[in-house]
Amino acid sequence: MLKLIKLSALALLLLLTIVLINTLTHNPSSDNDLKKIAIDFDESRAIINLSDSIKFKTISGQNRSQQSIEEFESFIQWLKKSYKLVTENTSLKRLNDTLLFKWEGSNPNLKPILVTGHYDVVPVIPGTEGSWTEPPYSGNVDSEYVWGRGALDDKSGVIGIMEAVTYLMEANFKPTRTIYLSFGHDEEIGGVNGAAEVVKYLSKEGVQLEWSLDEGSFLLEGFIPGVDKPVAAINVAEKGSVTLQVVGKAVGGHSSMPTRSSAVGHLSKALVKLDENRMPGGLEGLTLAMFDEISKHMPFVYKIAFANRWLFGGVIDSYLSQAPATNAMLRTTTAPTMLSASVKTNVLPIEAIAIVNFRIHPQNSVEDVFEHVRGLVENENVEVRALSYSGRPASQVSSWESRGYKVIESSVKEIFGDVIVAPGLMIAGSDTRHYAKVADNSYRFNPFPLSNKELAGFHGTNERIKKKDFLDGVRAYIRIIEKGSST
Ligand SMILES: [Zn+2]
Repeated sequence: MLKLIKLSALALLLLLTIVLINTLTHNPSSDNDLKKIAIDFDESRAIINLSDSIKFKTISGQNRSQQSIEEFESFIQWLKKSYKLVTENTSLKRLNDTLLFKWEGSNPNLKPILVTGHYDVVPVIPGTEGSWTEPPYSGNVDSEYVWGRGALDDKSGVIGIMEAVTYLMEANFKPTRTIYLSFGHDEEIGGVNGAAEVVKYLSKEGVQLEWSLDEGSFLLEGFIPGVDKPVAAINVAEKGSVTLQVVGKAVGGHSSMPTRSSAVGHLSKALVKLDENRMPGGLEGLTLAMFDEISKHMPFVYKIAFANRWLFGGVIDSYLSQAPATNAMLRTTTAPTMLSASVKTNVLPIEAIAIVNFRIHPQNSVEDVFEHVRGLVENENVEVRALSYSGRPASQVSSWESRGYKVIESSVKEIFGDVIVAPGLMIAGSDTRHYAKVADNSYRFNPFPLSNKELAGFHGTNERIKKKDFLDGVRAYIRIIEKGSST
C-alpha cells in the first residue's frame, strides 16, 4: 500500500514537473526585440488626403440607385491628381472603376507582389446620420481623429498605401520585385466587377504573384482576455459560407383540427438538433498556430493550459467554444436566421422553412456541411435544400512561414514595437477571395491599431481612425512595400 502511495506521489511529481517545464518554456521567440525604427514623412499631407478621400460618396449599396457614378469618377480623378508621383512612375490599368497600378521592378524574373485595398464604402443606415458626432462624409479632423465613412474600411488602406509609395518614390527607392497596387470599387458588393476583373487581366498577362496583402484584421487592442499587448492577426485564410433551407413537412389543413404531426413541430425538432450539435472543431492547424503564439503572452495560469494541451486540450476547446468570437475561429458555425410557415393564422402550413447560414471553416467543405445537416435532421418529415445562390468554400490557407508573411510580421514589429503577431482567420469576406487565385500566398491585414471602442464604427456609426494610428500604419506600409519588393 505504502509502495503504491509512493509510486502515485512520484507519478504526480513527474506530471507536475513536465507541466511546469512546458509552461516555463512556452515563450515568445526573441525577434520580439526587433529594433523599432522611426520614419519621417509628410504627416499633414497624409491626414489631409485621408480626410479629402472620405468626402467622396463612393457608396456601394445593394440598391443601384444608391450608387453615384460621378462620385466614383471624381474620386479616381482626385486620386490621380493627388498622387502625381505615383501616376508618373507607374503604368495604370483601369478595369471598370477599379485601378491597377504597376510599379516595375528591376528583376523581371521575380514574382511580383500585390498590395491592395478598396475605396467603396457601405451606406450609412438611413435615419442614423444624426447619431454621428461628425457628419459621415465630412472627413472632419479634430485633435485626435479623422472622422467619416471609410476612415477604417478601407480608405485608410488605400490612402495609406498611396502615401507609402509616394514616400518611397520621393526617397528614390527602386523596387527589385514588381509591385502591383489595386484599388477596388465594389468590394462591399462582392468585387465581381473590380477585383475579379483584375484577376482576369493578370491571368491573361501571365502574372502569378508571390503574395498579396489586402484588408483584414487590425492591430487589435484589448480583445483577448488576459493579453495586454496589441495583437496583429495576419489573416491567412477566410471562411466560406453556405445557406441551407431546413424544411418541416406535413399535410396541412384547418387549424381548428390540427394533426399530431405538424410542419412546425418537425422543423422545431430539427432546429433544436442543429443547435445542440454544432459542427466539430478545435485547436488545429491555423487556429492552433494562432492561439499557441498568443498564449505565450498570457498570464501564467492560461499558459499552463496552452503549454500542456496534451493534458488540457479538452478544457481549452470548450472554453474557447463559449465566446462567439473564439468559437467562430474553431469551427464552421451554424446560424438559423429566417423562419417562415403558414400565410394565415388559421391555416396549417404544408411546409415550415428555416434558413440556416453556415460560415465554413477551412477544415470543412461545402459538402461536409450538407452531410452534417442531412445526417442530423433529414427524415420522412424533414428535408434539407440548398439555396440556389449559396455555397462558397473557405479559402486556401496561406503559409505563415513564407517570406511575405515574415515581411509583414517584421514590418509591424519595427513600427509598433512589442506586439503579438500571429496568423489569423478572417470571418468576413474580402476581395482576396478573387486575388488569391493569382497569388501563391494571400494575407489580409490592415496595419492600423484598433481598440474595441473604435471597432463599433466599422460598418457602423461614428467610423473614425486615430490620426496617430493612421500615420503609423503608413509607416508599416512603407516597410512592407520596401522590404517586400527588395528581394
Ligand atoms: Zn472592407
